[in-house]
Parts: sequence; structure tokens; C-alpha cells
Amino acid sequence: MIPVTKPFLPPIEEYNAHVAGIYKRNWLTNNGPLVNELELKLKEYLDVPHLLYLSNGTIALQIAIKALDLKGEIITTPFSYVATTSSIVWEGCTPVFVDIDPQTLNIDPSKIEEAITPQTSAILATHVFGNPCDIESIEAIAKKHNLKVIYDAAHCFGTLYKGKSVFAYGDISTTSFHATKLFHTIEGGAVFSKDPEIIKKMALLRNFGHNGPEDFGGVGINGKNSEFHAAMGVINLKYVREILASRKNQSLKYDQALMGVDHQKIKIQGQTTFNYAYYPIVLPDTARLLKIQETLNADKIFPRRYFYPSLNGLNYVDYRATPVSESVSNRILCLPLYFDLTNEEIDFVCRLIKRAQNN
Ligand SMILES: *Cc1c(COP(=O)(O)O)cnc(C)c1O
Repeated sequence: MIPVTKPFLPPIEEYNAHVAGIYKRNWLTNNGPLVNELELKLKEYLDVPHLLYLSNGTIALQIAIKALDLKGEIITTPFSYVATTSSIVWEGCTPVFVDIDPQTLNIDPSKIEEAITPQTSAILATHVFGNPCDIESIEAIAKKHNLKVIYDAAHCFGTLYKGKSVFAYGDISTTSFHATKLFHTIEGGAVFSKDPEIIKKMALLRNFGHNGPEDFGGVGINGKNSEFHAAMGVINLKYVREILASRKNQSLKYDQALMGVDHQKIKIQGQTTFNYAYYPIVLPDTARLLKIQETLNADKIFPRRYFYPSLNGLNYVDYRATPVSESVSNRILCLPLYFDLTNEEIDFVCRLIKRAQNN
């Protein structure tokens, strides 16, 4: 079987060595030494001033919205994973969908201003598939209209924009370290901000609002992560350069093997060092997508329709037409991409795609 993705697993001996240490210390969670070590190592690797390690990327989005005290409407992208939208609704705000750019598949800044109302408090945009948004245009609009900016950077581990980690942009950036992501800690996530006051607030939110054992600074939630999860992160971080390099080679292999197949690739933002986290292809129509999917499934190859459906059609949001996102969602397929996927397997997948196209 060739799934769309497979979690990276480091040598078990390395994980067991950390588990032995956790047993010896009997310190399992609550800001333990491995959580601290992971935060320090991530800060160093990513070269960012502050970050907080959290239990997952969804709680990261919720904590970000809470920390900025957002109310009313939040402008967002319909082309993302459902957590981007559901977090807005979960926090009692209203998502207002703005269509995407047909080339980059990120929110189209030229359509943001017409969606701004007196109720708008922020822009929450996803750097989809690890490809940075048009950050300059979004910052300029946010500044002009006094809006906060949150980036859902769940796909972005390893992506640099203008030589800096893409996590460094926005009032807050959030990410996910879920098992399916390029860098993972089984479950996990993080928030990033330049502003130490915002970080302090998010640290409080992460830990039930505790200021001290008997003192609460405000309402909080449990966003902490465990020593066992942090151990996986500390180890996986040693392998992340290798993972990034293999993703790049595999993507170049796909580029080559897909020549002759009628499809569109995403356009990568300028001044970007891309992380090649996913391999999405946009097909000319849904019929061709379904044909390819069926042909691959018959040989136990399971690409995924990321992202489908377009989030503006969810049954708990106000529908607002976003024709580009709706059209792309109906035609996009993410091909298998994971650490030990071989060139032979990529060739096999692409031969089947060609066969499906020509039948
Ligand atoms: C994975 C993902 C999330 C959610 O992260 P979890 O760690 O699974 O909670 C949020 N947004 C996007 C775009 C994602 O891909």
C-alpha cells in the first residue's frame, strides 16, 4: 500500500533512551525538561525569538484568537484544513471567506478589502501546502484597517520567506506537529510571536490561567504537551534536514515523472525557500481527478483530496461564494509523499496517472 503520507519514525532505541530518562525523573508533563529542551532547540533551529510548545495545532489557533482578544468577524481562507475555520467559530467569532489566488492557492489580498466591515477584527490566513501567503500585501491591509494577523502555518516547518522562518511573520503564527506533518511530535503544535507580552499571555492560556499554584490570571485552557511527545520532537529535529532534503528530491522526481500529464502545479511565492511538504496537482476537471483516484486506489495507492470540500460550504458557516476555491477544491489531489517513498514508487504512481489520463 502507498498512503498519501506516513509518519516519520526515528530509531526506536533513541526514543527508548528518552523514555528511560522520563521514568527515572517521574516527570511526565507540566513544562518538564524535555518540553523545555524542545522549545530551546526549536527556537535555535528556526531562529525565532519566542515560541510555545502546545498539545496540537488546533489549540494553537484557538489560543492565538483568544490571546489577541478577537471579536466579530475574522477574514479567512476557504482553502485550508477544517481546523482553520472551526477554530474561529469555536472562539465565538464569524469567519468571512475571501477567495484564493488561482496560482498560489493562498488568500487573494486583492479581494480582502471588499470583505472588511466595522466588525472585522483580524485576518487568519493559511500558508497552504507550506507556500507563503502574499505577506507584504496582507500586512499593508492589516495596518491600514487596524486588523490583527494570524497565520496558520501548520504546513510550514522548514519554509523560509526572505531568509527567515515563515513562522516569524504575523502578530501570531501557529503550527502543527501532528504525526502527518513534515516535522512531528506525534501530537503537538506551537505558537510564535515577536511580542513577549503576547507570548506571556499565551503561556497563561496554555496552563489554565495559572499565575502561581493558587493564583489565576484569567480564563485558560489546557494546551500543554507531555514529555513523551517532546521526546519524539527532540529526536525528530535531528532528522529534519534529511526529511526536508528527501521531500525536495521526491518532488523533483514527481515533476519529471508527471511530464505529459495535463495538470497545474502551485506557484511558489517569490523569495521563498520552500519545504516541499506536499505534492498537490490541480487537474483540468473533477472527472479526471476521479478517474485517477480510482485507478490509483485499484493498485492500493491512496492520494487524498486536500482540500476538499471548500470550507465556505461547511454547514455551520455563512456561505459566501468563493468560485476559485470551490473550483480548485473539486480538482486537486495530493500525491503520496513521505520519508521513505522511493523513486520506483513515484514512477509507478505516475505511470498509473498517465494510464488513467489516456483511457
Ligand atoms: C494539521 C492542520 C491543523 C491542525 O493541526 P492539529 O495539530 O492536527 O490540531 C490546522 N491547520 C492546518 C492547515 C492543518 O493542516
